[in-house]
Order: sequence, then structure tokens, then C-alpha cells
Amino acid sequence: MRDNKASRPSRRYYFFHLGCPKNLVDAEMVATRLERAGWREADTIGDAELLVVTTCAFISIAEEESVDVILQAASIKKPYQKLAVLGCLVTREGDKLEQLLPEVDLFLPVNEMEELPERIGAGPGTNRDRTGIETETRKLFTPSHIAYIKVADGCSNMCSYCTIPSIRGELRSRGAGDIVAEAEKFVRAGVKELVLIAQDTTAWGMERDPAADSDGNDIYDVAERIGRSESIWVRLMYLHPKHIDIERTVRLLSSGSIIPYLDIPIQHASDLLLERMGRKYGHKRLLDLFSSLRRAHPDLVLRTTVMTGFPGETEEDLKILIDFLEEIRFDHVGVFEFSPEEGTPAARMEPMIPPETAIERRDMIIELQMDISQSRLEQRINKCESILVDGLIGADESPGEEIWGVGRYYGQAFEIDGVTYLSGDKADTGDFLHARIVEAGAYDLFARTERDLG
Ligand code: SF4
Repeated sequence: MRDNKASRPSRRYYFFHLGCPKNLVDAEMVATRLERAGWREADTIGDAELLVVTTCAFISIAEEESVDVILQAASIKKPYQKLAVLGCLVTREGDKLEQLLPEVDLFLPVNEMEELPERIGAGPGTNRDRTGIETETRKLFTPSHIAYIKVADGCSNMCSYCTIPSIRGELRSRGAGDIVAEAEKFVRAGVKELVLIAQDTTAWGMERDPAADSDGNDIYDVAERIGRSESIWVRLMYLHPKHIDIERTVRLLSSGSIIPYLDIPIQHASDLLLERMGRKYGHKRLLDLFSSLRRAHPDLVLRTTVMTGFPGETEEDLKILIDFLEEIRFDHVGVFEFSPEEGTPAARMEPMIPPETAIERRDMIIELQMDISQSRLEQRINKCESILVDGLIGADESPGEEIWGVGRYYGQAFEIDGVTYLSGDKADTGDFLHARIVEAGAYDLFARTERDLG
């Protein structure tokens, strides 16, 4: 790391990114504004004049991780560097953080993040629409062939355990025209996979009078318009079981506008717990939803998220959840244990489940799901799949002698699910390849390329 005055960096920034893809888009928006104000991304921490930490505060573990990264950034910060801490944790715990961390030069909560260029004296760098969401092509922190598109911010669902509505505010949807225009810009720039996200993507537009929205009626129309380009993947994530329109989703899948992968967090399958969580659907709705989707599209890859140890969860509730997971056989399941978040109704619910029980239940589900995930992936062996190449692997990092690259078939979301290791004919990052699946683990696939699809 450099420290002498002659080689001090000028107008370079370095991001420590934390949190989900929705947070990543926020970080990209802030970086875009810095770039418009003449800043550039530094190659290393030492090359930067400005260090930026974008924090997450969804659950306690995420908060702890955010604090660790702030401390780490503060400890390596040089006298010529400024440290800015942004995002959800600042909104939630800003006053406390300011007292505890005098090394930090600037704290900006979610609704002020975009002001970073002005607040560090770099001049204006903003260009946003009425919802506060960036309208021009962003700088991407993902590989240049993948882009997230945030269709809305905030959430009005008020699940009883969740802090997001208090941090991010009520649902605010972008205009359909803006979303489609952004997607088109990304496609023109060479992006091959667009991932539509929001806190609840299926709630898009619900806060508006449909008659007032002249350029699109619902998220299915928007996805359809984006998915018209045959050369790209359009993936939908964070769909709410209550809001999904089964018929429209099936139509979208059948038209090929979106890839057959849906991420639908259920959180639980017991009626009692779903009610206490404020999820506004029950076990029957979940059964109808997933069996209809699977029936209509047998090749559909399903991802969900579940929570263990919610207040009042009995062994019977746990069994209902396990039976449900065994029946639906999701391809991927994210499991996390309940954590009581200050200010949420669930934090005051009784009876609390001891944390060690919640963790034990979580681990039990992870183990069960590993077998299901592996057997779902094994069904792909000998099939040919279109694979999007995410990167090349050097001989020293390769998990197998012939493996030259890593990519994903449509059933693997970037940095969320597993990957597909590639051998055979080589290609470049961002290319689509045709490959035969030769081996499967619990999370990853191994494939041999056969023919370049261009
Ligand atoms: S849907 Fe529920 S869990 Fe998800 S962000 Fe909204 S309030 Fe939170």
C-alpha cells in the first residue's frame, strides 16, 4: 500500500460492498454518480482516496458483519483517505455508529446515499427519476455481462419480523418505460443476463392507480417487453407467494420471455406461523402455487427461503415445513434462523424459541435440502444445457485438470446458487456455450462444452 505524498491517489474510490443484490444496485448507483463527478474506481484499497462501505441491516448477523467491515476499513485507512459509511445500517443505527466510530468521516443513510459526491465536495453527480431510482446505465460491480435491474424500492408488506419497511419506506415503483429503457441500454452494451429485483418484485406498481400508468400494467408486461430479445436471459427474483399471478407467470414462462427459474421466498409452510409472520397466505396457497407452476413447466427451477425458530414454532410446525420441502422438492433453499429485530412486532412475540434450537432446526433443514438439491442436479446429467460463461479459471485455482472456466446454466443465479465448471472447447467470459452435464454435486455442476452457440 502506498503512503508517500508524491504517489498519493487522486479522485479514486474503493467500495466494500455488503448485502443483497438490491444493495448492490444502490452501491452501483452511488459509484455511477461519483464517476459522473470525475471519480474512477481504484484497483486496490491503497490506490483510493475515498473508501466507501455500503452496509446491510436486514438481520443481526448482517449488522455484525457490516460493523466488522467498517472496523476493518477504519483500521487500514491512511491519513490521505476518507471513509464513508452508507446505507441500511446508518438509517437504523446512525447515531450510535457516529459515537462509536469517530474514524468514519461521513455517514449517509439510505435516503441520502446519492448525495455522496456533493458531501465529499466532488460536485453533483445525480440523475434520478421521481422514485429516487437511477435512470441511466449504471456502473456495474457485477461482471459486465450481468446486470440487476431494480424495478421498485421499499416494501409495504409489513411482515412482522422485517425491518425493511422501516429502513427503506413504502413501496415505490419505477415507471415501466424507464425499466424497459434501462434494460435496452444494458442489452446494447452487451449484457447477456438481466435480473429483475425489488424487495417484492410482484408488488411492482401496486401502489399506483393502474389507469394512471400509461406505459405498462404489471410486472409481467414489463418482463415480457424486456424478454423479447432472444439473445439474453431475463431472470425474476424475490416474488411474493401472495402476489404471484399463476396464470400470467405460466404464460411468461411458456413464451420464453423469462428463463424457467423463479425465486419465491415462502419463509414457512405452517398456517399458524405464516399468520404470525404476517405473510398473508397459507399452506394451501403454497401447495396450489408450486404444484401449478411445476405442472405447467416441468423444467422450472425453483428457489425459496425459509426461516426456523420463529416465535411459537413447535415441532409440529417444523414437521409441516419439512414435509412441504420434501413434497415440492425445491432446487435451492436458503435457510436462516429467526433473529428478533428491535422495533418489529415479532421481537415481542411469545414464546421465543432458544437461539440454539433455531440453529439446530436450520441445520437440519440445510442437511435435508442438500440431498434434495443434489438429486435435482443429478437429473441434469447427460443433458445439454446452454451455459453462460462467467469467468476463466487459472490452472492454479482449477478444481480439475481440464477445467478452464466457470459459468451457470439457467437454474443457477449469479453468486446466489452454485456454478457450472467447464471443460472442453474454450470460450470467453460473457459467451453462451452448449455443454453436456457430466457430473453433479449438492450445489455445483460439471459440464463439457460441445458447440459454441454464439
Ligand atoms: S416482503 Fe416482507 S420480508 Fe420481504 S421486504 Fe417486504 S416486509 Fe420484508
